Amino acid sequence: MEMVQREKTMKALVLGKPALVETNPLLLCELPLPQIGEEEVLIRVKACGVCHTDLHIVEGEIPSHLLPLVPGHQIVGVVEAVGEKVKDLLPGELVGVPWLNRVCGKCQFCREGRENLCESALFTGYDVPGGYAEYVATSQEAVYKLPKGYEEEELAPLLCGGVIGYRAYRMSGVKKGDTLGIFGFGSSAHLVAQMAKIEGVEIFVFTRSLEHQNLARDLGASFVGKAEDYPPHPLTSAIIFAPSGNLVKNALLYLERGGAVIMAGIYSTPLPEIPYSLIYWERSIKSVANSTRQDIRELLDFAQKYHLEVKTEVFPLTDANHVLQLLKESKIKASAVLKVEA
Ligand SMILES: [Zn+2]
Ligand SMILES: [Zn+2]
Repeated sequence: MEMVQREKTMKALVLGKPALVETNPLLLCELPLPQIGEEEVLIRVKACGVCHTDLHIVEGEIPSHLLPLVPGHQIVGVVEAVGEKVKDLLPGELVGVPWLNRVCGKCQFCREGRENLCESALFTGYDVPGGYAEYVATSQEAVYKLPKGYEEEELAPLLCGGVIGYRAYRMSGVKKGDTLGIFGFGSSAHLVAQMAKIEGVEIFVFTRSLEHQNLARDLGASFVGKAEDYPPHPLTSAIIFAPSGNLVKNALLYLERGGAVIMAGIYSTPLPEIPYSLIYWERSIKSVANSTRQDIRELLDFAQKYHLEVKTEVFPLTDANHVLQLLKESKIKASAVLKVEA
């Protein structure tokens, strides 16, 4: 009994059952400090980004895999302890944990370096506990060293917004002199706009929110409007970040021959019926599913080479329900981050 009473605990926000965020479904709980296996790392969380995927998980638009669940998959923290078989990670190091947590390593997708498609993949804050907590224990394969020159809260949005945005951006195939259309302008999009700018790609941004329109202009978009506003010239390719399937039609309407529409979200409302003429001329529609480890490394290298301006709004961990509500109402300007004070 004595031992149990002295056991160290941590604060965590726990989803017992998916429900609308307005009902405050995340409960502040006192949980035992996680134990680590020999290939696991215990991380003291400093900051955790809040992603649209968290919103879809909490509200049940994406089916639950693990309940009760501690969400959060853009984790920045300090290594507290490492298992016996952990290599290259030392207590005190600042590290990050993204959405992709573990894969089987054996299936055809894994063998081809397309582990983002692994059918046995486990995701942080979905299949395994996430970072809306003071501590998280996670497999060493999900732990990454982080670029220098950023605040802890600026690093968090890179781990999903940045990574998924980077994969979507590369999949769009745009290069110097091309024009990229961006539909929806939140955490991921504001980082993609910068990647495009750095590589000499012109950016057209389509978003309803006036605040997001202003941010897009600040970050160098040469055209900013609503989805139904025709841009001054066609798009080479487009990325859709907003979870609205109808945007596919707008994107195709504005798309150059041979262009791609990349859907970057894990969730979308249904796609509309589209006349074949809109997709003819070798236009394509493709979704982004998770990211490979290579994407994560490349994005972190990119962020080290070119300093990305990560626009954050920082809240205490205990505000998670409220932050998810703000995200749902498009009231977060760019990236929402929970700051954790253990
Ligand atoms: Zn696999
Ligand atoms: Zn995410």
